[in-house]
Parts: sequence; structure tokens; C-alpha cells
Amino acid sequence: MLINPYYIINMKKCQVENILIDINSKGKIRDWRGKKMSSLGLAKSYKGIADKMKPEYEARGVHNRYKKVRRKIKNEAGEVTGIVINDEPMGLYDKDGNRVVNYEKRAENMRFCGSFLEFAKIYENLKLTKANFCRVPLCPMCQWRKAMRVFWDTSKIMRVIEERYPNYIPLFLTLTVRNCSAEDLSNNLNNIFSAWDTFMHSKTLRPLVNGKREYIIKGWFRALEITYNDTADTFHPHFHSIMLVDKNYFKGKDYMHTEDWVKLWRKSAKLDYDPVCDIRRTRTTKGKREEVAEVAKYTYKDAEILSKKLSADKKDEIVKSLSTAIHGRRLYAYGGVMKEISAELKVDADKADLVKVNDDNINPALVKMILTYHWNMGVSNYTLSKKIELAKERAGTKNA
Ligand SMILES: [Zn+2]
Repeated sequence: MLINPYYIINMKKCQVENILIDINSKGKIRDWRGKKMSSLGLAKSYKGIADKMKPEYEARGVHNRYKKVRRKIKNEAGEVTGIVINDEPMGLYDKDGNRVVNYEKRAENMRFCGSFLEFAKIYENLKLTKANFCRVPLCPMCQWRKAMRVFWDTSKIMRVIEERYPNYIPLFLTLTVRNCSAEDLSNNLNNIFSAWDTFMHSKTLRPLVNGKREYIIKGWFRALEITYNDTADTFHPHFHSIMLVDKNYFKGKDYMHTEDWVKLWRKSAKLDYDPVCDIRRTRTTKGKREEVAEVAKYTYKDAEILSKKLSADKKDEIVKSLSTAIHGRRLYAYGGVMKEISAELKVDADKADLVKVNDDNINPALVKMILTYHWNMGVSNYTLSKKIELAKERAGTKNA
């Protein structure tokens, strides 16, 4: 492996200043700093939105709601010795009882996202063991972790499929609709999400064979991506998907050309124009699994919107539209055999662990050190705040 000399100089400087350097298996530096900076930028946008929303929220009588929660107090023997009643926050509501987004809280949570990171040092590698991630849907730091997780989960599912269904071949299908304004984004998303169901349940994809419905698509994975076009000030929501078909599909009468996919998607989404659809097969059979898992990373590109050159007000406006539009939606989903296997493997993209993004288990005997880094506002980077040398501690206990 060839290391860029700039890296070496930079790494020495980092070592002296105790700045975090985390290198992945391909020898590349993991961009913790960059993600943290992006999250801080987005937190600023959320704060901006919160401030702008204040008059509207006041007019709508937005207030915090609490519910009474009763908890038993038990002593060491497990006997109930008393009861405490606490007021626990339920969120923000307007005077008509509608729940509203708490931008202030999102800003606050995102600002502290990944403010501390704890790693186990194994040989020269760092393995994340603890962190405080905010899980706000648009957070760049959380999306980055989630993309890794979804990549890993999807590779795992594909590995099972290769063993169990060697005849299944993945197709990559992108389904789009025309760009739309911020006002139409939510309605457009409602439409394409329900169009997806119509599409998958259509007679074209579930033809009647000898009186029985057959599935052409044996399994699928779907990820929503929304890109933003700054020249036209429009949003472009679309699905990236993986469709598994039997290899006989390519020779049979069910085979679909691009125009057939276009026709089916047009009908499912009730469009009065021919939408752009892209269908392709994997380029290689060898790297199939990897290529498939790559698709899983797509929605991650949402964070790119933030790096566009836009005024702060415009950015706030886009963030607000996006966060309202994706609120409560499943951005990733599996279907058919991929769903079955995901259930077997207990994979759930929405609740995925963002600390542990793969299944590599840590062998405690190999952990030499536990390193804790904190985000340091002054140097705008992660600096070491705590170091526990386990090897020495173990030797120490032996001597004593
Ligand atoms: Zn986060």
C-alpha cells in the first residue's frame, strides 16, 4: 500500500497534537471531522428554522406536552417501597392538538452528535465502541454511519441469497418522476411511495400462471434519494432499487425492456408523461454482492445538498422542506426473499445500531487501549481526552 507523503506529515502532526486519526481497511482516513463539521452546519440551519418559526409557533399556541408516568421504587430485595409520579415530555403540540416538529431540539441534538467517540485499539486499528449519535434523519454524521450499516446488512443478505438461490440475478432499477417545487415535495413522495406498492402488485410483475400468481421479482431493496437542483430550485425524488429475478426471466416471455418498465411505472404513479427509468444488470458476476450493496448507500447523498453554494436562508428553507417531507417515512426497505432474510438476520435499517456498523466482533484479548476523543471546538477537530492502556493494567494486576 502506497501512502501519500502528505498523510505521513499530517499524521505526525496529529499524533503530536493528539488528534484523532482513524484509518479504514483500504488505508483511507475516515472523515470524522468532515462529518462532524457538516452536522454542526446542519444544526445551525435547524436553529435558524427554529428562530424563524417562533412567531408562527406562538400564533399556533405551540407548547410542550407532558404525560404522567408512574414508576415503582424497589429496594434491593425487589420489594416495592413506594411510587414516584413524573412528568415526562411527549413533544411539541399546537393548540389544536397537532404534533409539530421541535426544530430547537433537533438543532440541539445534532449539535452534540458524535461529540465523544470511544475506540478500542486493536493492533494499529481503531474500532468504535461507544458514541452519542443524534439519529436526526438528515444528520450527515448519522447518515454516514447508517450508509455503512445498510451497506453491510445488504451484503450479508446477498451472501445468503447467493448460497440459497444461486439462480437469482440482481437488476438495478431507478424510478424517477419529474422535478418538483418544495411545496409539492410531500405530495410527490406520498404518490411515489404508494406507486411503489401498486407497481410491485401489478399484474405485469405478478402474472397469472396456471391460475396462480407468480412473482417475477423474487426479492427487492429500495432506497429513496432526493436531490436538489439549485439552478431551477426544484427537488428530484426517486427510488434506487435492486430487483432479484430468476435467470430464466431473460429468456422468457416476461422479459421487460426499458420501455416496458417506463410504461408500468407511468401507470403505477398515474403520470401523464413518460418518466425516466433506468434498468441494468450487474457488470460483473464476481463483484455482484459489492455492487448491490453500493446501491444501499444512495440516500446518503442527501447530505450533499448542504455543500451547495446557497445563502443561509435558502439552506434553511431546503432543510425545512426536506425534513418535513421525509418525516416518518421508510427511506430503506426490503421485500420478498430479501425481506425474509433480513428478518432472519434481524436487520432493520430504521433502528440500526450506528455504533457497530458491521459484525466484526472485538476480541477483548487483542484490545491494547481504549481511546476516548472529544470534539474540540477550539481546534475544530477530535482530540484525545482519555487513554486507558489495557496491556499495562493487565500486567499490573499480575504483579500485584
Ligand atoms: Zn447525528
